[in-house]
Amino acid sequence: SIVIIGSLNMDMVVRTSRAPNAGETLFGQDFALSPGGKGANQAAAAARLGADVRMIGRVGRDTFGSELLEVMRKERIDTEHIGQSEAQTTGVASIVVDGEGENRIIVVPGANTEMGPADIAALEPVISQAEIVVMQLETDLTMCAHAAAIAHRHGIPVILNPAPARELDDDFLQHVTYLTPNETEAGILAGMDVNSVDEAGQAARILLQKGVQNVIVTLGSKGALIVNKEGCLHIPGFPVQAVDTVAAGDSFNGALAWQLTQGKALAEAARFANAVGALAVGKQGAIPSLPYLPEVEQFLLD
Ligand code: ADP
Repeated sequence: SIVIIGSLNMDMVVRTSRAPNAGETLFGQDFALSPGGKGANQAAAAARLGADVRMIGRVGRDTFGSELLEVMRKERIDTEHIGQSEAQTTGVASIVVDGEGENRIIVVPGANTEMGPADIAALEPVISQAEIVVMQLETDLTMCAHAAAIAHRHGIPVILNPAPARELDDDFLQHVTYLTPNETEAGILAGMDVNSVDEAGQAARILLQKGVQNVIVTLGSKGALIVNKEGCLHIPGFPVQAVDTVAAGDSFNGALAWQLTQGKALAEAARFANAVGALAVGKQGAIPSLPYLPEVEQFLLD
C-alpha cells in the first residue's frame, strides 16, 4: 500500500468583492466548506486512481474532524491511523477570495502538528509494510524527518513534497528518494531564484548534491523536470484550459506515487502525473477536481 503521512484541513472559503479593513464588517457573496490539506488531497488523488492508501495523520475530536474522516473513508482510504486529538482542534484554512480572485489565507494547523517523532516511531510496523511513503510539510518537521529515516532503514522509497517550503537538514534530504518541489519551493530549498526551466534544473542539481536521489520539479503548465544522476529530463505538460489550480501539485504527487508502485519508470510516471495534474486544474475545487483512472486513460488516448 501507499502510506501517506500528512495534513487534513477543513477549508472555509468566503467570497467577497474586497477584503475588509481592520474594524470593518462586510457582506460577502457566498461561503463554502471543503475538505483539504495536502495530505488528504494526495491520499484522495492516489485512491481515485485505484491505489490502496493508508493515511497517517491527526484531526480534532470535533465536527470538522469527524467530517474529514468520513470523506477519507468515502474515498476508500484506510483511516485506522488517523488519530483524533483530545487537546487540539482540526486544522483549518480560513480563505478570503476577493473580486480579483486574489486569496488571503490563514492556516491554523491545530491537530496536524500534534504528532511527533515518538508517535511516528510507534507506527514503524505500518511504515515498514508500505510500498512507498509520501509526505508533505504541513505537519511537524522532526516527525517527518523521523518517518523518512524509518522508511529508509526498511528500504522503502520516500516521496517528499516540500510544501510549504521549509528549511530541511541534509540528513533528512539524504533519506528522500523523490523530492517534488514546485519552482518556488525548489528555489527556496536550493537558496536561489528560479524563474526558468534552466534555473529549475540548477536548483535541482544543488538538491541532488545534498543527498536527494531524484528531484522532480513541477513546472505548472510546462509539466515537470526530472533531475538525477542520469541527467536532466523535461516531461512536457498537457495543454488544458486552467479553471482552478488548487490541488494541482497534490494530484501530481498522488499520481506519481501510484505509478511508481505499479512499477513504472520515473519518466513514464511523471508523464502520467502530468495528465492527472492537467485534469485537476481543469476543474473547480481540491478533492472534487481529482480524476478517476478511466478519465485519465481516456485523456492520454485523445
Ligand atoms: P503547485 O500546484 O504545487 O504549485 P504546479 O503548479 O507545478 O504545482 O503544478 C503541478 C502539476 O500540475 C504540474 O507539474 C502539471 O503536471 C500540472 N499543471 C499545473 N498547472 C497546469 C496547467 N495550467 N496546465 C496543465 N497542467 C498543469
